[in-house]
Amino acid sequence: MLEIPKIHHRVNSRRCIGVLSSGGDAPGMNAAIRAIVRYALAHQCRVKGILKGYSGLLSEQIIELNLSSVANIIQRGGTVLKTDRCEAFFHNKYRKKAAEILRQNGMDSLIVIGGDGSFAGAHLLEKETGFPTLGVPGTIDNDIPGSEDTIGFDTAVNTAIESIDRIRDTANSHDRIFLVEVMGRNSGFIGLQVGLGGGAETILLPENKLNMSEICATLDRSIRRGKTSSILVVSEGPKPGLANRVSDELKKRGYGSRVCILGHIQRGGAPSAHDRVLASVLGATAVAHLMSGESDAMVGIQNGKVVLVPLAKVVGKKKGVPRLTLELAHMLGI
Ligand code: ADP
Repeated sequence: MLEIPKIHHRVNSRRCIGVLSSGGDAPGMNAAIRAIVRYALAHQCRVKGILKGYSGLLSEQIIELNLSSVANIIQRGGTVLKTDRCEAFFHNKYRKKAAEILRQNGMDSLIVIGGDGSFAGAHLLEKETGFPTLGVPGTIDNDIPGSEDTIGFDTAVNTAIESIDRIRDTANSHDRIFLVEVMGRNSGFIGLQVGLGGGAETILLPENKLNMSEICATLDRSIRRGKTSSILVVSEGPKPGLANRVSDELKKRGYGSRVCILGHIQRGGAPSAHDRVLASVLGATAVAHLMSGESDAMVGIQNGKVVLVPLAKVVGKKKGVPRLTLELAHMLGI
């Protein structure tokens, strides 16, 4: 069970917090929004919801959130605040405008639920304008440095593993090789977790690029052992559709295979119990830290505990998949 740190609020330090979700949506974002609103209201602090991320902030799509605005959303995927990507926010002039809008609308701090890109924006907003920001890690990719876990990762992994179990039935029945492509442009956390939990024979990750002869050698080893079907988990990498390209190469080498690209089904659906609890704890802790006067930071999980990490230690940094876990996945998949 996640332990919540004891945080001393400064009396009346925050009167109105803004909250937005930004970048890719992730199951559990709603549970975080609910926790932020209810924790803040319980401490006499108002909450304003900003729709559609930084774009909605710049176009002043702002609504008051109360207890009932967040009723019945803990179990819903996506984000009721909607999300977006916003080109303008890369420019200083618009971040200045954003701070003015936040102040004019009565907000004294901002919680950003999103990934490392959204945190880069939040970090610059605070550095340049002095407007206090706090990050809540919400991304299915689990690629945020400074936190072992992110909201949505567990749900996405469970969705992908459920799909692999189904694919394995048909792979077994037809004696087939299946390439299952999972999400992960720059990081292979989903691929590794899904490969390990789904019992894949081989896992291809951005951090673990195998050449065709290595892939074929693994398949040959399985065939020699009498295996008639195999599952290869492929992280999409920078150019999605990698599983198709690997399948074409396998065909040239005499191995027939089928491809299943899971795509956006990994993003949707009801958040797992794990993600709901994680989101509730992180959302509430983010408010508590703002109330204690902290900002320019992110709440995260380290060694199973809720921690506060300065955004300067998150933005622009990389988090790599654990090497030994990857080796173990390959060893067990043989
Ligand atoms: P995620 O937060 O899921 O990583 P993105 O990388 O797409 O998603 O970032 C979401 C939004 O955050 C971008 O559309 C942009 O508005 C803002 N953002 C990302 N990187 C920066 C940056 N370096 N400077 C300012 N804003 C940024």
